[in-house]
Amino acid sequence: MADTVTAESGTAEVGRDFIRDIIQADLDSGRAASVVTRFPPEPNGFLHLGHAKSICLNFGVASEFGGKCHLRFDDTNPVKEEQLFIDSIQRDVRWLGFDWGENLFYASDYFEQLYAWAEHLIETGHAYVDDTPPEAMRAQRGTLTEPGQNSPFRYRTPAENLDLFRRMRAGEFPNGTCVLRAKIDMASGNMNLRDPVLYRILHAHHPRTGDAWCIYPTYDFAHGQSDAIERITHSVCTLEFEDHKPLYDWLIGNLPVPAQPKQYEFARLNVSYTVLSKRILTTLVRDGHVSGWDDPRMPTLAGFRRRGVPPAALREFVSRVGVARANSVVDVAMLDSAIRDTLNPIAPRRMAVLRPLKLIIENYPEGQTETLEAINHPDHPELGTRPITFGREIYVEQDDFMENPPKKFYRLSPGKEVRLRYGYLVTCREIIKDDAGTVIALRCTYDPETRGGNTPDGRKVQATLHWVAAADAVEAEMRLYSHLFARPDPGADGDVLADLNPGSLEVLTGCLVEPALAAAAPDETVQFERTGYFVADKDGTPERPVFNRTVGLRDTWAKVQATGR
Ligand code: ATP
Ligand code: MG
Repeated sequence: MADTVTAESGTAEVGRDFIRDIIQADLDSGRAASVVTRFPPEPNGFLHLGHAKSICLNFGVASEFGGKCHLRFDDTNPVKEEQLFIDSIQRDVRWLGFDWGENLFYASDYFEQLYAWAEHLIETGHAYVDDTPPEAMRAQRGTLTEPGQNSPFRYRTPAENLDLFRRMRAGEFPNGTCVLRAKIDMASGNMNLRDPVLYRILHAHHPRTGDAWCIYPTYDFAHGQSDAIERITHSVCTLEFEDHKPLYDWLIGNLPVPAQPKQYEFARLNVSYTVLSKRILTTLVRDGHVSGWDDPRMPTLAGFRRRGVPPAALREFVSRVGVARANSVVDVAMLDSAIRDTLNPIAPRRMAVLRPLKLIIENYPEGQTETLEAINHPDHPELGTRPITFGREIYVEQDDFMENPPKKFYRLSPGKEVRLRYGYLVTCREIIKDDAGTVIALRCTYDPETRGGNTPDGRKVQATLHWVAAADAVEAEMRLYSHLFARPDPGADGDVLADLNPGSLEVLTGCLVEPALAAAAPDETVQFERTGYFVADKDGTPERPVFNRTVGLRDTWAKVQATGR
């Protein structure tokens, strides 16, 4: 498996992968009668693109094999968890296109059962209460090359441990006084088996259980047992949990759980120019580096939605990436091309001018306008046409004009004739400049015989420009987004914030759009002809719409990098 997955090496089909092969084999051999998976987010942030991979995998295999997928909140750390995140996660999983039906669960639903199992471990001599201060406990843990040392509290009797654990629950001790640890092996080559912590004291209000508890299970203690309670058949997680698997199995093996779930690991999604760590995304939001969790530059599902990325594009991307066991970094260009490939067939075409340059068509009667017909999608005649206005003053893109063009510049320049999309052929006759020498308008003529862009004499015109009419164009703001980080491997030098791209948001005001766009609904992405895919933002009003650029028409990033602009 290559280190980098590129747009070329990805495949468009939902392929078989080792997880699906394992499930198929388990069903064939009867080891599993049906498939039950789960997606287990911790409600301490919004879902991001990496989670989308996990969601598509867990919900995807469940539906392909006729099973079910649970949504389970891993809500074991009340200090960082909030109802806001619980709500956003449900909304985003649904938005991505998946449904857990009745199967919505919370690890906190199992706190009483988990507590009883902790007492079971104590009674069977498999767990003890440790008063060692955190610092000393870390030192006793040893290193990858040196074994750890047994805690002096490891030899407490089950009766003594039970008493202490009950007093922990009763709230007798402040945070950090003691913890409950599994009694496994301080010399184990696997650090996770060196008497891992199962419960810690946290006097904190929990979004669901309120103040009922002041001790909370760790991820390791809650996760596998929750899987067992829910009779998960395939507990699929990312590779960093591979080292936790022996502990997962040890706990399942030493507890009277109702089922024997198995954990399987796959490679987490990494994308170039992108950070998929909730901790860092939380910092970006908290410290105001972005406008919020749904900032269109964020790799969160809420950010993608606001940027105009349809959920089908994310599912397509995830399916092109596939599921592997080896870690890799996916080229962000592959995401952009999945977005374009999804939007191209469905996005209605519209015209918008980002940096307007006025054209005065001298031989067009003053005060007159006419209505032309613009098609909504070149490949879908059934999407129909819309009326657009043409008149004496129109606007084109500043970039589509050059006073002294190089040889291969086919667009507007003095004396040059171009076609206006759905309109007429116009020829540039004269440049109007302000005192500073800046071009502020062009005087042109049009050929009345070329309505609809036809050339009755068959003469060749090499450029077709998009435009809007001064008579009815609506002023708009455009937000042009590019990568939030300026290097492919943000944070590789240690400081991820130093790698933020200062040019990740460019705001253009005074842009002009055709009137049909003023009423555009947020979340309906359109293609601005020749410019890119855009979506109306909730910050806009019908009088002054705001658009987010979802993605350009082709990869301009490589060019930007090469030329520095
Ligand atoms: P972070 O490390 O950013 O805090 P997390 O893994 O702790 O993320 P969880 O809410 O615990 O976040 O994740 C829920 C599920 O999503 C887990 O099963 C986790 O393995 C999976 N997941 C998280 N990040 C990725 C990723 N980049 N690629 C694939 N799956 C991921
Ligand atoms: Mg986690």
